[in-house]
Amino acid sequence: MELACLDLEGVLIPEIWIAFAEETGIEELKATTRDIPDYDVLMKQRLRILDEHGLTLPQIQATIDRLSPLEGAVEFIDWLRERFQVVILSDTFYEFAAPLMKQLGYPTLLCHKLEVDESGRITDYTLRQKDPKRQSVRAFQLLNYRVIAAGDSYNDTTMLTQAEAGVLFHSPQNVIDEFPQFPAVQTFEDLKKEFIKASNRDLSL
Ligand SMILES: [Mg+2]
Repeated sequence: MELACLDLEGVLIPEIWIAFAEETGIEELKATTRDIPDYDVLMKQRLRILDEHGLTLPQIQATIDRLSPLEGAVEFIDWLRERFQVVILSDTFYEFAAPLMKQLGYPTLLCHKLEVDESGRITDYTLRQKDPKRQSVRAFQLLNYRVIAAGDSYNDTTMLTQAEAGVLFHSPQNVIDEFPQFPAVQTFEDLKKEFIKASNRDLSL
């Protein structure tokens, strides 16, 4: 039994915080796990910046409403779901991901949750667990699934390590250089080939 685990942002959809940074013109909000590997440190910085500018969840959601999946992502996930059970493992929040999940056909998504007050201010967040992507893969393996995982950034690397096979997709050069043990590809066509290669079944394109 094989299961495919995919990262969301940077793999299937654009980086939400970067899109919001561009719309608001706040450069500091462009930092992602590519720049600050410790997610807690990164999120605390983001919430501080939002507070400084008086920005609320509905304003971020309005930006997200205008986003679309990356070109080829919908076709890719349809292709993948014909061949694997697919689970998206993300460090985003359900409050952000919902409109984009609709466009992707509502695949299973495991991510985090925001805490928001009545004014829409994001007061805090609840991370589902520590090292959630790796723990999810571990849990699937305990259910006797063989896991093939793909992601683009630092927060994916423990998931890729834990999985029976890990693939870097759309990764920047610094991540590719730091993790030479993983194959690194840039197009959905090449990613399909990596899944076929990593599978222990006889799959075709
Ligand atoms: Mg990502």
